[in-house]
Amino acid sequence: MGNRLIAAIQKSGRLSEKSLEMIKSCGIDFYADSRALKASASGFPLDFLFVRDDDIPGYVSDGVADIGIVGRNELDESGIELEIVRDLGFASCRLSIAAPPAFEYKGLESLEGKRIATSYPRILQSILNEKGVKATPVVVSGSVEITVDAGIADAIADLVSTGTTLKMNGLEEKECIYRSSAVLVSRKDLEEEKKIALRSLLERLDAVMLARHKKYILFNLPKDRLEKAAEVIGGMKSPTVTPLMDEGWISVQSAVDEGRFWSVFEELKALGAEGILVMNIEKMTE
Ligand code: ATP
Ligand code: ZN
Repeated sequence: MGNRLIAAIQKSGRLSEKSLEMIKSCGIDFYADSRALKASASGFPLDFLFVRDDDIPGYVSDGVADIGIVGRNELDESGIELEIVRDLGFASCRLSIAAPPAFEYKGLESLEGKRIATSYPRILQSILNEKGVKATPVVVSGSVEITVDAGIADAIADLVSTGTTLKMNGLEEKECIYRSSAVLVSRKDLEEEKKIALRSLLERLDAVMLARHKKYILFNLPKDRLEKAAEVIGGMKSPTVTPLMDEGWISVQSAVDEGRFWSVFEELKALGAEGILVMNIEKMTE
């Protein structure tokens, strides 16, 4: 162990699979048995501890682990201060106020004097405080959606990703008050060798995350349209251009932002591009 970086990962839940997938996509190999509490990577100084997500901030701050992957909500709710080294973007969800449709909601002020069931009292309280609203939190650790029906709360503040669970329980999402996604956290006082390992992990992660938002596009184009096409593609330093056997034509390749992809695709077609080929990028550096 000693010099190896120890990562706390959720043992089983919404974060588990994606957390491990993210590390695997960095070219780090390991075998994780779903019942094991520990695992070790081969060829990279990284070990894993599989724990409940609630325990991750504490383990990292106590030094049981050096880094961890946890929902921002769990981190904020724990009140533990850790360095957030990356927002990993997955497991995104929102903390929303929900209530029966009949509850007339005009903003947080409508919660004045009401009972609000939640598993995130600290986050909820800090948001209510900001608005100067006084409400009574009802702290429950699960099944928050049934508390209104059960008569112990007037509204709830719960994590939502699609909203179907709320609907199924006869509740209406009134307002999103907080957003979360999985974050990579680190202990502040890492030893030098662990710092080096973390830096190397982050370099790989960044390459993987950057590539996620890009597509690689390759197409043939009449030579005289190159300047226009380069404008359409935009952003990049310069597309790679290769001559084709047919003198009037060239082959062009470039990375394109995923969000702009369809408009780029259509504009290129309108410019006369042919044989457009689109590929996912696995890893990339800027
Ligand atoms: P554990 O057994 O490890 O304590 P858990 O039941 O507390 O697990 P999960 O339900 O696996 O936790 O959720 C883990 C994290 O996934 C949440 O803290 C949150 O950041 C995120 N998440 C994403 N979508 C949702 C959702 N719809 N409901 C709850 N959490 C969500
Ligand atoms: Zn939990």
